[in-house]
Parts: sequence; C-alpha cells; structure tokens
Amino acid sequence: MGNTFEALGTSGGDLYLSNGGTDVFFDVLTLAGCALAESVWESNLVLLFADGHRLGRGTDGFDLNSLPWTADWPAEKAFVLRVLDLAMTRHGWGLLTYEPPFALDYLRRYRAMVDGWPAPVAVETPATRPDWSVPPPPGFLERCPKHGIYQGMLGCRLCDPTLQPLPE
Ligand SMILES: [Zn+2]
Repeated sequence: MGNTFEALGTSGGDLYLSNGGTDVFFDVLTLAGCALAESVWESNLVLLFADGHRLGRGTDGFDLNSLPWTADWPAEKAFVLRVLDLAMTRHGWGLLTYEPPFALDYLRRYRAMVDGWPAPVAVETPATRPDWSVPPPPGFLERCPKHGIYQGMLGCRLCDPTLQPLPE
C-alpha cells in the first residue's frame, strides 16, 4: 500500500512511494516549504505537505494537475521547484529523528516530473481545499516551537508519534 504522485502531461514519469516513504517525502517538503512560503497560495501548498498523509493513509498521492493553480501558475510552479531544490540541500534534516536514505532520490524524481510538466490541465478531483487564494486559518500557520514548521490542521507532523519513529 502506498501513494502515487502523478503529473499528467509531464515527461518525467510518476512517483510511487510506500506509506513510510510518503511520510518522509512530506516531512522533507514541509521543512523546506515552511522556510520559503510567503504568499497565501504558497502557504496553502505547504499546508498540504504539513497535513499530508495524516488521515488518509495510502490515499494521499495526487496528480499535480489537481492542485488549485491560478493564472499565476508559472510562478507557482517555480515555487514548487524552489521548495524541491531547498529540500535537496537537506534543509532541516537535522530535526528528523531518523535517517532518510531514499529522500534525495524521491526529491530528484519529483523535481524532474514538475520540471517536465508543461501546464495545468483541468481535472475533476481537487486534491485539497479548492481555493488557495483564501488565507488558511491563522492557527494552521503557527509554528511548532520545537521544529519551526507549521502546526497545520493536525498539529506539527514532526511531533506526531504515529508518524515519527521514536529516537533511539
Ligand atoms: Zn514539532
């Protein structure tokens, strides 16, 4: 059981991750995204990562096209690439209680997908709250005092013992 991340129209294939791999993927994307998000759209995207794979185990893969892109999508795509680039520098990985040996590979493959994705196409099933021009509830953007990432709807994902392996 796992999750498939797709990007209809990309030249970069798709990315299948186990449930554990998906947790890691969202951990490292949240760490990088929380350091970069400024606009309302960007904050909403990073909340998708922060709250990702918390409730719907094995059902949280999504097609890139299902994100609520706006007319400003080229800048939004550039932001996704910036998050991936920062994540690939291992940004914040010292806060993880585990070694993520495969995360760089996930990030490289996903970056190739996003980079090779030409433009949004209309899809019927949105991945999340459909209107990312609306600011998220302020409490969602409060930072975990220990990890500095968004609390999100479900609390800091790095403080969640159901997601994080216990330190040795
Ligand atoms: Zn935390």
